[in-house]
Amino acid sequence: GQPPAERWTHSVCAYCGVGCEIEVGTAADAIVSVRPVLDAPVNKGHLCAKGRNGHAYERSPERVRQPLLRQEDGQWQASGWSQALDAVAQRLRRVIDTHGPDAVGVLGSARATNEDNYLVQKFARLVIGTHNVDCCARVCHTPSAAAMKMMLGTGAATNSFDDIELARCFLIVGANPSESHPVVGARIKQRLLRGAAQAIVIDPRRTELARQARLHLALRPGTNVPLLNAMAHVIVEEGLFDAGFVAARVEGLEALRSFLQAWTPERAAAICGVPAAQIREAARLYAGSGPAMCLHGLGVTEHSQGTEGVMCLINLALLTGNLGRRGAGINPLRGQNNVQGAALMGCEPGTLTGSQSLEASRARFEAAWQAPLPHNRGLNLLEMMDAAEAGRLKALYVVGFDIDLSLAHQAATRSALRKLDLLVVQDLFLNETARQADVFLPAASSFEKEGSFMNAERRVQRVRRSLPPLGEARPDWQILCELAAAMGLGEHFNYADAESIWNEVRAVWPDGAGLSYARLGRGGLLWPCRDEADPGQAVLHTEGFANGPTATLRVVDYRPSAERTDAEFPFLLSTGRNLYQFNAGTMSGRGPLSDLRATDTLDMNPADAARLAFADGELLQLRSRHGCAELPLRISGQVQPGQLFASFHDPAVALNRVTSPERDSIVQAPEYKLTAAQVARA
Ligand code: SF4
Repeated sequence: GQPPAERWTHSVCAYCGVGCEIEVGTAADAIVSVRPVLDAPVNKGHLCAKGRNGHAYERSPERVRQPLLRQEDGQWQASGWSQALDAVAQRLRRVIDTHGPDAVGVLGSARATNEDNYLVQKFARLVIGTHNVDCCARVCHTPSAAAMKMMLGTGAATNSFDDIELARCFLIVGANPSESHPVVGARIKQRLLRGAAQAIVIDPRRTELARQARLHLALRPGTNVPLLNAMAHVIVEEGLFDAGFVAARVEGLEALRSFLQAWTPERAAAICGVPAAQIREAARLYAGSGPAMCLHGLGVTEHSQGTEGVMCLINLALLTGNLGRRGAGINPLRGQNNVQGAALMGCEPGTLTGSQSLEASRARFEAAWQAPLPHNRGLNLLEMMDAAEAGRLKALYVVGFDIDLSLAHQAATRSALRKLDLLVVQDLFLNETARQADVFLPAASSFEKEGSFMNAERRVQRVRRSLPPLGEARPDWQILCELAAAMGLGEHFNYADAESIWNEVRAVWPDGAGLSYARLGRGGLLWPCRDEADPGQAVLHTEGFANGPTATLRVVDYRPSAERTDAEFPFLLSTGRNLYQFNAGTMSGRGPLSDLRATDTLDMNPADAARLAFADGELLQLRSRHGCAELPLRISGQVQPGQLFASFHDPAVALNRVTSPERDSIVQAPEYKLTAAQVARA
C-alpha cells in the first residue's frame, strides 16, 4: 500500500476540459493519493477514474530527465541544458537566416498552462518572427470557435457548467460526456434521472446518455447539417421560434426561411437515416421546453462540414431564444484540460491573446512587448504539415503534443516530419513524435509547476506545484525563456515566475484583467472578468452579442463528405475516446488505468459480427483507402450496423494510420469521424 500523505496541495486535474479541482497528497517526493475538493464549483466533491487514479505517469521511470540530442548515428545522447538550448538556438537561427522566419512553425500544448502557452506564441511571434503558431484546438474545437466567433462575436462556451442544473432540456450533439467529460456527464445524468430535464441526443452511437434521453436521433455519420436544417425547418414552419427574441436580436429569418423550405424532415430522413417523425419531435421538444442547453462535441466539429454544423446549432439557439439566458446556450465540450486556454492565449495563427484580432490589437501588443509583430499571414497546424511536405517549412518546435499519433492520416504526418531539417520536441516522454525528433527537451508536469488552466466553461483555475520537477525537467515557460535568451532576446522574456507572466496576460487581455492569482484562490473565476471587483460572467450575450446588438442566421447547404463507402470499403468508421484512457495515452497509459482498458478496440454491431463470423476479442485488421491497423474486436450494441467505432489511445495500434485526409472546409480540422473501411481477420 501507499504511505499516508504528508502534504496536500490544491490544484486542477490535468486530463479533460471539465477542470475538476483536486487535492494532491504527496509523501517522500511522490504522489500517494488524489482526492476531490469537496466544495469545488465544477466537481462538487466528485472525480472520475482518470482524475483519481491516472497520476502514475508523474514519477514513471520512462519520463525523460535530461535534454537529449540526436547524434549522427541516430542515437540519443543526454546533454546539459545550456548545450541543448545552444544547439536549438543555433539551428533555429540557421533556418531563419537561410529560409526566413516563416520556415519555422511552433505548436503550443493543451496539456501546458496558460502561462506556458502565452510564452509559446510570444516566442513564435517575437523570437522567431512568425505567426506560424497553433495548438491541438485545430483538430478538435476550432470549428466551434470559428462558427461562434463569426455569428456571436466570441468563440467560447456561452454558459457555465452550473447552467446544467438550470436547463429543462439538453440537446447533446456528437458528444459522449459520460466517457469524455465524466463529471459533466454525471451532472447531466442526475438531472435526467430526477426527471428535472429531458434530453435529445444526436449521435450515431447509442451512448449512455442516448439510452436515458427522451429522443435518440441515431443519424448516419456526416449528416449533422441536413438533420439540424430539418429541425430548423420544423421550428420555422410550425412557428415554434421565439418571435420576441428574433425580432429584437436576430437577423436573416426570411433568407433562412426561404432556404429551409426545401429541407423537410422527409428529405433529411432519407439522408440521415432518422425517421422524419423523430426529427419533428426533436424540434418541438427543443423549441418548446426551454431553457434548452446545447452541448456539442467532436462529432459535430471533426467533419468536412464541421464549422457549418456548429453554425446550424447556433441557428437553432438563435431561433428559439436559447442564448443570453441561464440554462441555455451553445457549449462546446472542449476535450483537454487546457485546450481552451492554449488557443485563447494566442496559440493560433490568426489571433492574439484573448482571441483579439491581429489588425485591431497589433499596437497594444507591440507596446506591451516593445517589439514589432510579424506581418505575414501565419500557417495553421495542417498548413504547416502541408508546407513541410512541400519543403517550405524547415523547422518545427512542438510543445506537449504528439502530432504523429494524434493527427489524422498518419502517413502524411510522418512524410512531412521526415522532410524537416529540425524537429524539437518538449514533453514528458519520448512519445511517437519525439522518437522522430532531433532534440528532446524534458518538461515539468503540471504537478511540478505553478500556473493556471482554463476549462471548457471559461473558468480560470490555479495549478499548483505539489512536487519538484523530476530530474532536470523544467517548466515549459522557463525553457522558452532560456531559449529566447540563447537567441539573444532574453530581455523580452524576463519573468521571475508564472505569476509575472500571468500579469502580462491580464495587461494585454481586457476580458481577463480581473483574474489576479490572489482572486483565483479556490474555485477560480469565469471570464469575462474585467477588473478586480468583477465577479466573472456565467452567461455570455445577455445584452446583444460580442460583435453587435444582433446576430445573423446562416444559410448552410449540405455537401456530403468526399469519403464514401463502396463494395470494397463498406463500413463507416468513427473514432473517439474511452473512459479509462486519454488521447495519445502518454499519461493514462502508464499505471492502473491500463488494467481497465489495455488497448484500443474496434466496436462493431452484433449483427455485423455474426454475419462475418467474428468473435469478441478477436484480432482484426481494419483497412481504409489511407492505411491499415490491427486491433481487437469488441462486439457492442452501441454501434449501428454498417458502422464501426474505435478509440485512438494506443501507439501500438496507431489508429490514425487508417483515418482520412479530408478536412473541414473552413478551418481545416481533420475529418476523424468519417472514414470508409473494411475489416478482415488479422
Ligand atoms: Fe479529470 Fe475530467 Fe475526470 Fe474531472 S471529469 S476528474 S477533469 S478527467
